[in-house]
Amino acid sequence: MSKFYITTPLYYVNSSPHIGHAYTNIIGDCVARFKRLKNEEVFFLTGTDEHGEKIKLTADECNEDTLYFIDRVVNSFKELWNKLNISYDFFIRTTQDFHIRVVQEVIRYLFEQEDIYKSNYQGFYCIPCESLWTEAQLDNGLCPECKRKVEEIVEENYFFRLSKYQDWLKRYLKDNPNFIKPKIRYNEVLGFLENNDLDDLCVSRPKKRVSWGIDFPIDDNFVVYVWFDALINYISGIGFNQDKDKFNKWWPADIHLIGKDILRQHAIFWPIMLKALNLQPPAMIFAHGWWKVGEEKMSKSRGNIVNPEELIKTIGADGLRYFLLREIPLGMDGNFSWLAIKNRFNSDLANDLGNLVYRTLSMVEKYFECFISGNFEKIPDSFKECLDNLQKNYVPLMESLDFSSVLEEIWQLVNTMNKFIEDTKPWLLWKENKVEDLKWFLFSLLEGIRIMSIYIYPFMPQTSIEIMNQLGRDDKEITLKKAIWQKGSFKITKGKPLFSRIDAD
Ligand SMILES: [Zn+2]
Repeated sequence: MSKFYITTPLYYVNSSPHIGHAYTNIIGDCVARFKRLKNEEVFFLTGTDEHGEKIKLTADECNEDTLYFIDRVVNSFKELWNKLNISYDFFIRTTQDFHIRVVQEVIRYLFEQEDIYKSNYQGFYCIPCESLWTEAQLDNGLCPECKRKVEEIVEENYFFRLSKYQDWLKRYLKDNPNFIKPKIRYNEVLGFLENNDLDDLCVSRPKKRVSWGIDFPIDDNFVVYVWFDALINYISGIGFNQDKDKFNKWWPADIHLIGKDILRQHAIFWPIMLKALNLQPPAMIFAHGWWKVGEEKMSKSRGNIVNPEELIKTIGADGLRYFLLREIPLGMDGNFSWLAIKNRFNSDLANDLGNLVYRTLSMVEKYFECFISGNFEKIPDSFKECLDNLQKNYVPLMESLDFSSVLEEIWQLVNTMNKFIEDTKPWLLWKENKVEDLKWFLFSLLEGIRIMSIYIYPFMPQTSIEIMNQLGRDDKEITLKKAIWQKGSFKITKGKPLFSRIDAD
């Protein structure tokens, strides 16, 4: 059995989850479920980033104890993951003792080998971003990330030698063109490394300014820079410095899934941290795009957050998962609009998929009292090609995370089966008493639906299981090995239509 280790970023707990968080975890879940469908052993890690002054300040604003506030937000993330059927294997929190210990061990180790050193720092500090900038990096005197006012500071700090490893990273990228995906992000990072000299990274924050963080292990006056702390979760979460066998089994990660806004931290800081620790880089960093509302990135400060809980109430977890994975190719930006959601839901899910299943099962109920059996090996010509294409293309497209193309191919099968019904006119077969023809026709549809329900599992797990159950089959049949034409019988239990149309504006 081959292993597969996938991670999401740790979400910062200064606010409740929004659709952007949901998007990342839905992608991660889709990949994890696909790998399990292929019978690979999967470890899927997600969690929360719980340090930094911003979190303490937000808790203060809410008049809440910091840890109480964090627990509350963490629960809202966990609840959302449950509602969306996110099948993570471990939820890591950076305030957990084992993580804190590993971060401190890493700092101590890097200090001892002189990759971390103390020096004077002069620069500009952005409190909301908790970022330090040089004068040249400022944007008209403002923070280049959030365009807010910055504070000038001079102080002692600890630094990590990013600069020492710049040439190594550049070479590594050139030797591994698939390290960062999509290509546009790879080019962005390589271009940056070729045109800029990396500054060493300031990895400490004085306690007088930042009190909510992991104690810097070699100096009581400081806490650890929150990004340096958070990135280490990818190794602490699978047993680094705690459980050697477990760690060696899972590391290196196969995919670090991230949003494109945190590319610098993952594609520059993190590989260099790993190199300094003598660990292999992850196999791939994949940076997906943003969902925008009216051309703007969604964020708390912009006040345009779309609440995933509300959407789930209206279109269900699978409806939301389907929309996000189908609407735009992974890596590109998308525009979030109710009209787009409604159209997709009504046409693809309620009409195409829902109707196919409902009317097929209705006919099996009406003509054969819910039971069909026979040695039907012949696949109807009209949808044999679609099935063959899916069998050929499904795995390679899924492996390259081309989800929207996979769904397009699955829907070709769905629509071809719908057309098969219209063309065959089963009510005429019934009238003319062609029982065997009618039986083969319905068996073919049931078998096509069964195979299709396996293919949609990573995208819409609930729907996949529901269809399998209506077909009278066990959930255990949801495995890629069974996505081939099989003789046999169906004892169906027709349920309600899978999706009911939305009329609300
Ligand atoms: Zn800022």
